[in-house]
Amino acid sequence: MRRKLAAGNWKMNGTGAALPEITAISQAHGDAAVDVLICPPATLLHRVSETADGAIATGGQDCHAADSGAHTGDISAAMLAETGATYVILGHSERRQDHGESDLEVREKARAAMQAGLKTIICVGESLDEREASNTLDIIAGQLAGSVPDTVTGESLVIAYEPIWAIGTGKTPTLDQIGEVHDFIRAELERRFGAGVGRSTRILYGGSVKPGNAGEIFAVSNVDGALVGGASLKAEDFSPVVEAL
Ligand code: 13P
Repeated sequence: MRRKLAAGNWKMNGTGAALPEITAISQAHGDAAVDVLICPPATLLHRVSETADGAIATGGQDCHAADSGAHTGDISAAMLAETGATYVILGHSERRQDHGESDLEVREKARAAMQAGLKTIICVGESLDEREASNTLDIIAGQLAGSVPDTVTGESLVIAYEPIWAIGTGKTPTLDQIGEVHDFIRAELERRFGAGVGRSTRILYGGSVKPGNAGEIFAVSNVDGALVGGASLKAEDFSPVVEAL
């Protein structure tokens, strides 16, 4: 049985002034029947982990593939883990776009993250052009094949399906479109890794999830939770999403 996961990606938002949101989310969902995760900016990660004090999980938004070395500005998976983080988001489309991250780089980062004991949320998703050209499933298949390391366990791996055109736009795919992609991802995982990993890996939907649409999205087959951007910044928006799970 897959445990549901409500994950917040704060992106480049949040300073110490946002810590009361963590307190509120922790108090509201500390004993939730679902996993609750916030991934704040790296500068805030340690303080967020301390504030959450184990009531909710915390995670990074990226890591380097190497353990240490001459990589100015980068952060290793072990460094994330030392802050109290237990997850890391990898291969988000904003990193693929802004930093030119390739599938191979994402795969190497994922390998490092899993070695450091972090659960790894690998993001995949098509652009609007790719969807309109009916290439969505091919794009997803390529990203999964390229970005997911061969050595995964269902416990260590989470996939987030985030159509690029749905991120921060208020637009979402139809429920049928979400179901089609999630069923496809499940089938691809089962084909490559077998039923064990294939069935225990959680598949999140991300892209303009908010209190008003979370319930119907969570009812779609093979949707095991959400990766939420804008609506994760305030407890008053994020809590109803968690409750809809
Ligand atoms: P929004 O929820 O703001 O659309 O962002 C989604 C996202 O990119 C989460 O990683």
